[in-house]
Amino acid sequence: SAPSERYEYQAEVSRLMDLIVNSLYSNKEVFLRELISNASDALDKLRFLSVTEPDLLKDAVDFDIRIQADKDNGVITLTDTGIGMTRQELVDCLGTIAQSGTAKFLKALKDSKDAGGDNNLIGQFGVGFYSAFLVADKVTVSTKSPKSDKQYVWEGEANASSYTIREETDPEKLIPRGTRLTLHLKRDDKGFAHPERIEKLVKNYSQFVSFPIYTWQEKGYTKEVEVDEDPAEAKKDEEDGKTEKKKKKTKTVVERYWDWELINETQPIWLRNPKEVSKEDYNEFYKKTFNEYLDPLASSHFTTEGEVEFRSILYVPAFAPTGKDDIINPKTKNIRLYVKRVFISDDFDGELFPRYLSFVKGVVDSNDLPLNVSREILQESRVVRIMRKRLVRKAFDMILGISMSDNREDYEKFWENFGKHLKLGCIEDRENHKRIAPLLRFFSSQSEEELISLDEYVENMKPDQKDIYYIAADSVNSAKNTPFLERLAEKDLEVLFLVDPIDEVSIQNLKSYKEKNFVDISKEDLDLGDKNEEREKEMKQEFGQTCDWIKKHLGDKVASVQISNRLSSSPCVLVSGKFGWSANMERLMKAQSM
Ligand code: ADP
Ligand code: MG
Repeated sequence: SAPSERYEYQAEVSRLMDLIVNSLYSNKEVFLRELISNASDALDKLRFLSVTEPDLLKDAVDFDIRIQADKDNGVITLTDTGIGMTRQELVDCLGTIAQSGTAKFLKALKDSKDAGGDNNLIGQFGVGFYSAFLVADKVTVSTKSPKSDKQYVWEGEANASSYTIREETDPEKLIPRGTRLTLHLKRDDKGFAHPERIEKLVKNYSQFVSFPIYTWQEKGYTKEVEVDEDPAEAKKDEEDGKTEKKKKKTKTVVERYWDWELINETQPIWLRNPKEVSKEDYNEFYKKTFNEYLDPLASSHFTTEGEVEFRSILYVPAFAPTGKDDIINPKTKNIRLYVKRVFISDDFDGELFPRYLSFVKGVVDSNDLPLNVSREILQESRVVRIMRKRLVRKAFDMILGISMSDNREDYEKFWENFGKHLKLGCIEDRENHKRIAPLLRFFSSQSEEELISLDEYVENMKPDQKDIYYIAADSVNSAKNTPFLERLAEKDLEVLFLVDPIDEVSIQNLKSYKEKNFVDISKEDLDLGDKNEEREKEMKQEFGQTCDWIKKHLGDKVASVQISNRLSSSPCVLVSGKFGWSANMERLMKAQSM
């Protein structure tokens, strides 16, 4: 064969390889994602360049990726029909750190180490070609660029400071175009060389790469074959003169053979035109992707254009997960981020989607993020901030859609499962108060068993009513029986019953709805606009001494004892100070400090 030339790696490359092997040892499987994404990039590049240089496609082969696992020898080969590399490109791309991905990996890795970061995070990086050495102790890259007549072979070994390049001369190994990687797996990693294992990894990481991915798989079919008769019996039959009449014996056997099997869907559902995707398709995708077995309550498929471009499908599940409180658990893996259809991560903590909306599930695919996007990048990226904003807006549109559906039960179901999340949103997300508030639901003094919206409350307001009244209590029943209600009931004013412990804090965060303030009817300064100062004065004179007497006996237990116009049939009531906690809050605080 042709003589091979030996090259030294650029110093940074050796360092990078050490780092990758040392930091990703527990996450080795990412190598396949990286190599498939390179193959997909190479196909993308060819597709792009061939638009202006159709000559590049003179070797008419399909655009695809093929993976062959040889478990007996512990070898994986991965072949693409992409742009390939010339000799010079091999040196530039696989001997030095390209400007792309890998250099940033180094920086981010350093940053994360400096910040005492966890190693797990590194699994999310696009660590690139050298991740092949996570599982292989020898890697061969045989590649043919359509720009060159020759095919070259790059060969490198784990823990080496140099690699070799030679021309491919073995006619059996020539390929028309593209790149064939051969990984000679390390002894402990030979388990990766199983078609089923490969298929599983592809389904997890690269299911939606837009080029077909095939694996070489063993298949079988059954057929009936004729079997020779037992010679002794045949002889006997002959003697009996039965040969002609007797039917031949058959048996069923399984024929084994090997063939390429397509293992990905080349057109991810989110890239399709929403008009051409059925509800069943969306539901199926949801169940498959998020391991759910019930259909979602709603879905929303959209593309955003302009400043930042991405596609997404969001879902509202039918039920909240039981058994664990996912408001508190931020790691719900609810959003799967793809960059150019390559799965990047589903391990976020509020970067892409606020925590209080973590019940919403979905996929997001962006062309504007780098493949090696890290948590640091996510936190700092302007692109991500814009994406987050749009995703949140779309999520609220979707929820609003449920609330406006003809089927009132749908929203009741939603509220029962996820109402708490929205209430948390009132506290955590000031910016979206306008979107959250119309979705809230409460019992009220006039709604009987039904929950009402703030819009329904406002519609039902008296012409001269300025505020939205509420009372916090531990149940609808105790709210109904509170003496504070008396005067409002007399005036036919509706009062919201805040019976969930979080309700009161949420309402206090909202402060107002449609320019109407929320007013706690148990507070001292409640003004119903019906003051009669003359009568108040008379009353004060008449009962002033009684008040003093009561105050003297109660001492420090109350701040003051006053004449009030707030009651109509009860003789007295305990109220909270204007700046104090409401009775309900006090109960909450007490419960928490225990
Ligand atoms: P990145 O993909 O971020 O550029 P990698 O380390 O994964 O970094 O790859 C380095 C470079 O090697 C790529 O940019 C590309 O030029 C080249 N390369 C890797 N794999 C292939 C391939 N299958 N076909 C053509 N070029 C490739
Ligand atoms: Mg890459």
